[in-house]
Amino acid sequence: MTIEFIYHPAIVPGEDSPQTLSLYFLGERLLLKPEVMDNAEHILPWTTDSVNQDPRLELLLGSVNGVPLRVVGLADIPPGFKDVALRDYLLAASDDIFRVVNAAAQLRYWRSTQNFCSRCGTLLKPIINDRALMCPSCSYRSYPKISPCVIGVVRKGRTLLLAHSNRHRTAMYSCLAGFIEAGETAEEALAREIFEEAGIRIKNPRYLVSQAWPFPHQLMLGYLCDYDSGELNIDTTELESADWFDIDNLPQLPAPQTVARKLIEAAVEQVRNE
Ligand SMILES: [Zn+2]
Repeated sequence: MTIEFIYHPAIVPGEDSPQTLSLYFLGERLLLKPEVMDNAEHILPWTTDSVNQDPRLELLLGSVNGVPLRVVGLADIPPGFKDVALRDYLLAASDDIFRVVNAAAQLRYWRSTQNFCSRCGTLLKPIINDRALMCPSCSYRSYPKISPCVIGVVRKGRTLLLAHSNRHRTAMYSCLAGFIEAGETAEEALAREIFEEAGIRIKNPRYLVSQAWPFPHQLMLGYLCDYDSGELNIDTTELESADWFDIDNLPQLPAPQTVARKLIEAAVEQVRNE
């Protein structure tokens, strides 16, 4: 099934009609009908079921195949639904469902954390012709927050630099990544992050792919790059370990849906094609 998703151009509540689709959240968790949970790739996470609760938050995300889709934040789990970690759901979802749930989760987070003007403290109001909230007192506009990050795989001959983060619960190794600082280019941020975290200087950064990542609002810009100089010297506040792995002997890698995995696979293919 093809899913055509179109954003609604403003922050408005969803309408309650029999056709309207709802995507339910309880805080950071997604609420699903139990039959969906083992088969996220094939069964849609939204429903026409209307739950008999006062929503804490409701907004129209856009349309899916021409049907309005609203995001609803609830205070409790309604009968017939179960809660699931957003990350677990997304890592099993197909690309087009990933895109919609990703957008929904980011909008929900932003809307649930933006209530008052950060300049003067007045209650913010939706704007009818823009995807933003505005302060009726000082006209400050709050737009959905997006935090740009860089993520890169460093290549040295047949080996790739991969790291095991302190935050990972499994033995997984991934690419190095970090937030772009104010005033930096993406390439400068990539070089800085890899040097800070691993003591390695890079060269030839090549942009490959990006991915929005709703934990809570990153935009990951993915790069391939080459080793230039330096010895591994890891920042132990961020990383537990890091190493150069031969492409035929890679450790446990991130899930296929992640930009990290796409970068690693692209780097492996590049080495094999030489
Ligand atoms: Zn204000």
